[in-house]
Amino acid sequence: MLTEELERYSSQYLMQTYARIPISIVRGQGCKVYDAEGREYLDFVAGIGVNALGHGHPDLVTAIEKQARHLIHTSNLYYSEPQVQLAQLLVKLSFGQKVFFCNSGAEANEAAIKLARKYSTDTFGPERFEIITMHNSFHGRTLATLTATGQTKVHQGFAPLLAGFSYATLNDIQSVKSQITDQTAAVMVEPIQGEGGVVVADQTFMHALRTLCTERQILLMFDEIQTGIGRTGTMFAYEQYGIQPDVMTLAKGLGGGVPIGACIATDNVAQAFGPGSHGSTFGGNPLACAASLAVLRVLLDSQLLEKIRTVGSYLKKGLQELQARIPLIKDIRGVGLLQGIELSVEGKPVVQDCLTRRVLINCTMDRVLRLIPPLIVTQKEIDQLLKVLSDVLIKRL
Ligand SMILES: *Cc1c(COP(=O)(O)O)cnc(C)c1O
Repeated sequence: MLTEELERYSSQYLMQTYARIPISIVRGQGCKVYDAEGREYLDFVAGIGVNALGHGHPDLVTAIEKQARHLIHTSNLYYSEPQVQLAQLLVKLSFGQKVFFCNSGAEANEAAIKLARKYSTDTFGPERFEIITMHNSFHGRTLATLTATGQTKVHQGFAPLLAGFSYATLNDIQSVKSQITDQTAAVMVEPIQGEGGVVVADQTFMHALRTLCTERQILLMFDEIQTGIGRTGTMFAYEQYGIQPDVMTLAKGLGGGVPIGACIATDNVAQAFGPGSHGSTFGGNPLACAASLAVLRVLLDSQLLEKIRTVGSYLKKGLQELQARIPLIKDIRGVGLLQGIELSVEGKPVVQDCLTRRVLINCTMDRVLRLIPPLIVTQKEIDQLLKVLSDVLIKRL
């Protein structure tokens, strides 16, 4: 189908929840994607941080092919070996002791929110159900997770929101303290606000938050849906703070493109979920778990985490050099392969100019260009990106 036809049919048949960029991607290889007209693009969006191993990674493709031939789905009414293997590996790699599988980030956060309420109700009584999240956070689009999301634009038109949420300011521990009441069950925070403009939670704040939550017997829940699975150069971003949450959610990169989400908790918290308390028909199905196992094995076996730290620093250094030359750049923020460029102007035209130069990047919060390439991105590809960004931004001076 030609791109113009796709554009027409999309507006005819799809609910218009996205303002799409008018290209149709039909194929990908590594950090490159190709559109219906055969044009090649350098992909620094990676399906919004999903294609962790890039496109067409042989180990991932083989794992999916092999599992699809054996068994795709059976439901959670029966035992499943890939699901148990994946849970075992995630437990081995993280602070966590038990895993619940679902199909997306929003669902992982729904699970975390339900778990926090159930645990707190069981432990402290039914009046303890409030969850504190941060302004400018992003936790998903379901009713509970959009309520958790601290952005009014996401709330608009969906009242009444779910009861029991309040909002504090990231990197301001006093603002969290001021939101705590006798009814507070949990605090949910992203180590880096990805959708919120690539804002990094600082060490002091995270340490103070851990201490505060422990003292007040409040659960600390990290939304690592965007930061987890190697994105920041460690398997999970929390490792770089030297603290541990009680609950963590994952999705995006976890399946390398196959939809899967996970909610991970300590044994003490996880025991609040018994049979019938939560569930998912598709969650943790053999296909998704086999894909995820392949992603994690590549991450672990190819010293990829170390490489992410190296290319991540290289990218950051390159961006800082751009900032020194280009006054339109106000700030460079991020860790590893999640980097943000805050501009003093709208980011959308820059995204468009990069597209014309065959580079895919993304913009959040109107003025922040976000770079979330596949984790296998090379120094050469980063050079390519920096050259295009430099040209495009200099042209706008
Ligand atoms: C993307 C994202 C979500 C939502 O994930 P979906 O799979 O789109 O539901 C939640 N939290 C964070 C931090 C995210 O980046």
